[in-house]
Amino acid sequence: MMKYQVVILRQLKGFGQFVTESRDEANTYEFGDGDERPIIFGEKLKAVERRTIMRKVREVLEVNCWLTTHKKGGDGGISGLCMSCPACVLFGGTYAPKKGGGTGPKNVVQMRRAYYTGAFPFQGGGIRDVTFNAVDERTGQTGQALGTNQIIEPRDFIDVVTVEAENEQWAKLLVWGIEHSDRYGANTRIYGEIHNEVLGVVVDPRLRIAAIDLARLAPGADVKKNLEEKKLVLTTMPCADSEIAKLIEDLTKDEAVEDLARRKNSVDVSVEEYLQKTAVHLELTLPVEKKDGKEVAAWKKWKPGQRLAFLTDGKKSQYALARDIEKANFAEPEDVEEEATQ
Ligand SMILES: [Zn+2]
Repeated sequence: MMKYQVVILRQLKGFGQFVTESRDEANTYEFGDGDERPIIFGEKLKAVERRTIMRKVREVLEVNCWLTTHKKGGDGGISGLCMSCPACVLFGGTYAPKKGGGTGPKNVVQMRRAYYTGAFPFQGGGIRDVTFNAVDERTGQTGQALGTNQIIEPRDFIDVVTVEAENEQWAKLLVWGIEHSDRYGANTRIYGEIHNEVLGVVVDPRLRIAAIDLARLAPGADVKKNLEEKKLVLTTMPCADSEIAKLIEDLTKDEAVEDLARRKNSVDVSVEEYLQKTAVHLELTLPVEKKDGKEVAAWKKWKPGQRLAFLTDGKKSQYALARDIEKANFAEPEDVEEEATQ
């Protein structure tokens, strides 16, 4: 497995508010004596870039894959993922069918391949308290102070995000997502415009660089030159807008997607109702055998592997079967309003 370390210059244009839930203070890290710097946690960056990629994946593949977060945080608090598309392979997640009680595996867990640590600025300071007030809608008069926000002044952050993958297509997908994300933080209507510049990708079987080290370079330092001096090769992996749809389509054929889809399908077809509905959707008839004059649904004893083989005829890909299962069981009503008027 290769490690693709994507080096990103994240330029905060305007003010940013990057707070962690239940805290309204900026997160900081002390680089040295009195050198306290505001930082942006990786999870905040990942959430935005994951959503950017998922939007594109839904548009290109028409998969039913959504990131629904629940209040009680963590990866366990996420649902709505299809667990069979390139975005799910890249960012990981979990899935369990709503209709439990299947005979085979009960859930799927996919480890992420994209690792975020956090973005660090080249200099300290730059944290400001702003008081926000209530405004009277009719008079436009400012009322009493409601509270204080800690915001970060415009500055450059350096970040390194690592993708672990067998081929560079996965790194390219993430690079595209990073380059097409620009609003981050707690209050993206007012704060958090960031311009991302991918400086390059270091490809190596080992981790070679860390953002926290690069942030120790002097402000305005040439990060590219610094890496070159360390004999680290920065590869460019551009992915133009005209290429992204094909890249995503190609990735659906990747072994990693096929493996995840197989595991996800195994969970789904273990649920009788899902298997039956999928068979109907595919115009397949589940076999019924005669035993002592009675009809017996032999398929109910089939193992997940047999169920998958029946539905795919040994030819169809697991990715394609995942789409069939989705259409037969979980597809959202396409246009309810139009249906009602017909
Ligand atoms: Zn997905």
